[in-house]
Amino acid sequence: MIQSQQMNEKLIIIGTGPAGYTAAIYAARADLHPLVFTGGQIGGQLTTTTEVENFPGFPEGIMGPELMFNMSQQAEKHGARFAYEEVLSLTQEACSGLFTVTTSGGAYQAEAVIIATGAKARYLGLEGESELVGHGLTACATCDGAFYRDVPVCVVGGGDSACEEANFLTRFASKVYLIHRRDQLRASKAMQQRTLENPKVEPVWNSTIAAYHTDDKGEMSSITLKNTQDGTESELEVKCVFMAIGHTPVSNFAGDLVERDAAGFVVTTGAGTATKTPGLFAAGDVADPTYRQAISAAGMGCRAAMDAERYLLTRE
Ligand code: NAP
Repeated sequence: MIQSQQMNEKLIIIGTGPAGYTAAIYAARADLHPLVFTGGQIGGQLTTTTEVENFPGFPEGIMGPELMFNMSQQAEKHGARFAYEEVLSLTQEACSGLFTVTTSGGAYQAEAVIIATGAKARYLGLEGESELVGHGLTACATCDGAFYRDVPVCVVGGGDSACEEANFLTRFASKVYLIHRRDQLRASKAMQQRTLENPKVEPVWNSTIAAYHTDDKGEMSSITLKNTQDGTESELEVKCVFMAIGHTPVSNFAGDLVERDAAGFVVTTGAGTATKTPGLFAAGDVADPTYRQAISAAGMGCRAAMDAERYLLTRE
């Protein structure tokens, strides 16, 4: 564990998805000795996925967790240091421009900071939802799919994540209902085709979940579906609901140091990664409402490290 220290860090990177690790690789190779806070989910969203087929350099595909492990090894090899701590707040001292990063392990000062904290899975906000997480409600098929063998389950959403999760879950479940609020998927054409051709996936169009129901042990047993066209309701037996309705960017800890758009994404300037605060940069899903791919996050991480390096030169 890195000791909390008064000595200034040159650069702190918050987050360990493709953006954070790539920023760490570039910053370490530029001799900035970055200190990287991993947060609770080390390696980010890709550690909860299966095969990644579209990250260049891996013609046979690569498992998400392996890709992230490789990135962390590469960053460490070049001199990045990792602190396994959660960042609680980020502030800046007006006179010196120094940042204070307060974590679960202490307080650290840095001349520049890159926010690469990605995004957190969204839930529907229904009654009793938080108590059900882990009892038949989850946002991670890779983590929990194997617990639901030979029983019906459902996935909520119509994007690439929903389709990927639905396909993956057919390895275990007797049936996978794909519940989507419209009658057309948002996922890429290839993913749509693979999903709709899977005989174990049954799409449930124009529908949302109106309520969850549990058995006497408090585990998910069924859901009430509501038709988005005519409002009619029906019951569906499922032992687990896998939520795949997108993610919310994580930047609350930065308070007013960053500007956010209406959806909560950190606003960066033009083609760069600078935020409204000099010395503070953002990269990856936390600042990308449009592309949100592993490779685009990695590219943005590279740019953030180079932007930070240039900023640090102006302080010398
Ligand atoms: P997404 O593309 O934003 O899709 C979210 C889905 O959830 C949409 O179908 C949306 O419906 C639905 N939804 C949102 N809020 C809802 C609500 N309150 N109730 C019911 N349904 C709701 O999110 P994603 O699938 O997580 O993908 C995010 C990004 O990662 C995308 O750019 C995607 O291409 C990428 N990704 C890529 C891969 C891959 O290439 N292998 C895998 C996963 C993700 P509407 O369609 O009606 O808006």
